[in-house]
Amino acid sequence: MEECIFCKIAAGTIPCRKVYEDERVLAFEDIQPMAPIHIILIPRRHIDTLMDADAEGMADLQAMMVAARAVARLKEVDARGFRLVINCNEEGGQVVFHLHMHLLGGRKLRDGLA
Ligand code: AMP
Ligand code: ZN
Repeated sequence: MEECIFCKIAAGTIPCRKVYEDERVLAFEDIQPMAPIHIILIPRRHIDTLMDADAEGMADLQAMMVAARAVARLKEVDARGFRLVINCNEEGGQVVFHLHMHLLGGRKLRDGLA
């Protein structure tokens, strides 16, 4: 996946502001934050979209949820509250086709989801 920007970040070819990593997952600051805290969580292994996650991908998704909780604690929004978002395919607003989850927080988020 030489052309994938998140694979390049996972490989260290493109820099990021890393906030968390483990065997399966990497988390870093979003380059265009939509909230005071906006973290991107990715599986190290390339998966195009949520719909392409196989059994191994589901293990990655579980690890991403565990990682999101760790990031929420690190960023001290675990008790205040935060939002997790996965955009899938075009109408879902997915722009980067390497599966990822957004963790948003640091202010009262808007009520509407769409
Ligand atoms: P999505 O619409 O879910 O595909 O969102 C992709 C997200 O990746 C956007 O919020 C971008 O700001 C973010 N993004 C794109 N390139 C980078 C990068 N090099 N480093 C950090 N975040 C990025
Ligand atoms: Zn990738």
